[in-house]
Amino acid sequence: MSGESAAARELLAGAVRVVVFTGAGVSAESGVPTFRGPGGLWKTFRPEQLATPEAFARDPRLVWEWYGWRRGLLAACRPNLAHVAIARWMLRRGGVALVTQNVDDLHERGALEAATGLAREGRLRVAAGPAGAPASEEARAAAPDASPLHDDELPVEKIAAAAARVAPIRLHGSIFHVRCTNCRARSEHRAPLDASSEATLPRCGACGGLLRPDVVWFGEALPEGALEAAFGAAARADVCLVVGTAGAVQPAAALVHETAGGGGRVIVVDPGETAYDAMADVRLWGAAGEVVPGLLRDV
Ligand code: NAD
Ligand code: ZN
Repeated sequence: MSGESAAARELLAGAVRVVVFTGAGVSAESGVPTFRGPGGLWKTFRPEQLATPEAFARDPRLVWEWYGWRRGLLAACRPNLAHVAIARWMLRRGGVALVTQNVDDLHERGALEAATGLAREGRLRVAAGPAGAPASEEARAAAPDASPLHDDELPVEKIAAAAARVAPIRLHGSIFHVRCTNCRARSEHRAPLDASSEATLPRCGACGGLLRPDVVWFGEALPEGALEAAFGAAARADVCLVVGTAGAVQPAAALVHETAGGGGRVIVVDPGETAYDAMADVRLWGAAGEVVPGLLRDV
């Protein structure tokens, strides 16, 4: 292990509260293109031309077609080792808040994998307390609860509840949620999309209004509740672990400064340059799936 990895593990082991902050890079090894990296283009459009309220007002069919394409890409992707390691770590130790800028569902699916793995090992606890609350000493030191389970004995509901407990705070919404442009009702939406004409676009069950993806587009405000929860967690954190974000999209990018401003430490995992390189206490240059599992194992 490099000296930098050891330093990062020491910081994490000594932290009571941690915020993990992820961006497109955490999903890159799952095959989801980052906006700025190779494969970030669709047809000849840049995301900045499609992910805007003006683009949706001008041509909702085109924007929905793009989201349909992105949903299709995601359906073929699996959570990678970083998603699973983050969730497993959160389930084991408590005191960790996960904040993502991503609109994919790979953190949630990674959490299901992690909770299933722990259940198989007989280590899935029905932990008390909300996600992000510091774990008690005894919980952190806890031994396996029971003997390993066979697949047909897996407690499906307990696994789903555990995974939900470590769900990310979403700063930019979700590609699998929609919002009515008329009555603003929100809901999950995973049904196949038919963007062949404006008449076939998804409509609100309550009022018939046109539905839009419940994501934050360029120029739009971030959801207030998520913003408060995320920045509050960052301000209280002893360590901010940044994974796979260039730190170029505001106001989300300012989250890291909340931790640093409060005297907390910053660890950055990214194979490319980021806006945080000069301020990082520990800088780990590498891919999330290669670096994160070793970083979080048993700390
Ligand atoms: P970004 O595209 O600006 O930066 C991605 C970062 O990931 C870069 O710093 C790059 O070096 C790094 N990276 C590339 N491969 C990596 C790997 N294997 N492991 C770790 N890091 C890796 O993305 P951003 O900072 O998240 O900001 C762009 C905006 O677009 C955000 O709102 C983001 O959520 C959104 N976006 C989301 C998705 C998604 O939901 N998966 C995909 C593309 C863009
Ligand atoms: Zn409606």
